[in-house]
Amino acid sequence: MSWLTEYVRPRIRTLLGQREVPENLWSQCPACQQMIFAKELEKNLKVCPHCAHHMRATAIERLGWTFDDGAYTRIELPKVPVDPLAFRDSKRYVDRLREARTKTGMEDALIVAHGTIDGHRAVVGAMEFDFIGGSMGAAVGEGLVAAARLAVLQEAPLILYTASAGARMQEGAVSLMQMPRSVIATMLLKEARLPLLIVLTDPTTGGVTASFAMLGDIHIAEPGALIGFAGARVIEQTVRETLPEGFQRAEYLHEHGIVDMIVARTDMRDMLSRLMALLRPPAEAITGEPAPAEPEDAAAA
Ligand SMILES: [Zn+2]
Repeated sequence: MSWLTEYVRPRIRTLLGQREVPENLWSQCPACQQMIFAKELEKNLKVCPHCAHHMRATAIERLGWTFDDGAYTRIELPKVPVDPLAFRDSKRYVDRLREARTKTGMEDALIVAHGTIDGHRAVVGAMEFDFIGGSMGAAVGEGLVAAARLAVLQEAPLILYTASAGARMQEGAVSLMQMPRSVIATMLLKEARLPLLIVLTDPTTGGVTASFAMLGDIHIAEPGALIGFAGARVIEQTVRETLPEGFQRAEYLHEHGIVDMIVARTDMRDMLSRLMALLRPPAEAITGEPAPAEPEDAAAA
């Protein structure tokens, strides 16, 4: 040891901010604690290559992973009255909104885009959990209606990635009104006989689970996603029973019929494409005329 290692190096380290390895080069898996090289994690769509744990993803990442070549067109969502109740808790709601916008680069907790998935035209909406817990206020409600209208206009399926803690409490009753509003959005698609595919991601809870998130034609969930209405502790206290293991997780809900399928993130695009091909409306639904018989049908008859 010399004065170089004992004195100079620590000083330089302090000067450089301590770290020898830049933090953003490596990530630690919160499930298995293994270190993962950032590039590898990115290539694996934020799924741990060691234990397959699905880490949380941003709405923008999801759009990039879903559309062909990561290319899509975002639509501008309707403007809504800002802070209708002039709400304040520990912080003013307008300040929370401003912070969330800076942090996420989004206007509110939902983005909507259109493009193609394996050549199929599709409209995709994705919720951003980092935007005030992905909570559903007027902007999200209006955004869902806009997404449904766009899907109808384009005669395309609507895919919604959910991630939410529920209602936007800072908007009080206005927020609760978005539950029926989002239900209307799902009805627009059903009237037009267009598929609505819901992808439940971690976590999907509260008023979002209690409205449009459970009204799709097919419910897909990512492995291990927390999906529920009230928190497990609240339920336990109310029913005075210990809840089974894995309660409110995607796998438990799949076993009990709430979720149709669990699909790994790396297979999601393929699955969405297959489902869209299967659910394509028959020619009859569009032209009003019976669809021409397929060659296989003719052979069978
Ligand atoms: Zn892991």
